[in-house]
Amino acid sequence: MSIFSKIRPASDVPLAVQHDPNAPILKLSDVTVRYNGTAALRNISFELHPGERVAVVGPNGAGKSTLFKAVAGVLDTSRGSITIGGYEPQGHICIAYVPQRTDVDWEFPVTVSDVVMMGRVSKLGLFRWPRVRDRQLVQEVLELVGLTPLAEQQIGELSGGQQQRMFIARALAQEAELMLMDEPLTGLDLPAQDDIFHILDLLRARNVTVLVATHDLNLASSRFDRVMLFNRQLLGIGAPEQVFTPDNLRAAYGNHVQLIETEDGVLIVTDTHCDDGHSH
Ligand code: ADP
Repeated sequence: MSIFSKIRPASDVPLAVQHDPNAPILKLSDVTVRYNGTAALRNISFELHPGERVAVVGPNGAGKSTLFKAVAGVLDTSRGSITIGGYEPQGHICIAYVPQRTDVDWEFPVTVSDVVMMGRVSKLGLFRWPRVRDRQLVQEVLELVGLTPLAEQQIGELSGGQQQRMFIARALAQEAELMLMDEPLTGLDLPAQDDIFHILDLLRARNVTVLVATHDLNLASSRFDRVMLFNRQLLGIGAPEQVFTPDNLRAAYGNHVQLIETEDGVLIVTDTHCDDGHSH
């Protein structure tokens, strides 16, 4: 049984795959992923550097979740290769995948500290009890994300922002080097979003590379080192002003994007989601 009700784990018994220190933390070369013969991602190639924070942007159905699942090693590619630190995705204990909130069974009877301790399983092995050091680490990361007072609460009692912080704490406990967050900001108010970015700054200081799927073009433009624009294919990766060009945005969103010229730049309004994206 798993609290990830709709996702199978990458591996029942994780293996510690070493990294080549000279290889990119994540590299995709000409990756295509198909579901029943239909391509959800086509010919994707990019590289990420350690400690980068990159936004993955695109309309619903663009393939963002598919990308994360392929990188996490829970979906096979139909073509091309994915490497993490120079090695294929399966068996890495350095990847933390934070699923969409709707993919989690919040009724599952576990506490916040239980979930964070799950981040230690790959280090512990499945059949060893946590040691004092593991418990200390769980306490430290809960403190870091501000969840110490809620450590013994059942996970269903958390707010959306607290749920995201719990998963970040689990990634920290896992000592993850690459974190994949699927829509962590959706539905959070501005203070809760700020809390998440503050914690992501702490991850950057630890050289953790973070990929965040988001619908919000404004947040993607203002709070990330680089952005990626997707619609089944990669339309651009780089600085927001280079990637969010009118042509690229039309290619991603079609008629669902309106570009309004203003003195400060181009205002982008998309209507593919209830949180319309705005960007300069
Ligand atoms: P996003 O996260 O950007 O909304 P997804 O990766 O969820 O996009 O989906 C990309 C495409 O793949 C969509 O057309 C979706 O319907 C399809 N898809 C996603 N998961 C499955 C699946 N398990 N089986 C078949 N098609 C799927």
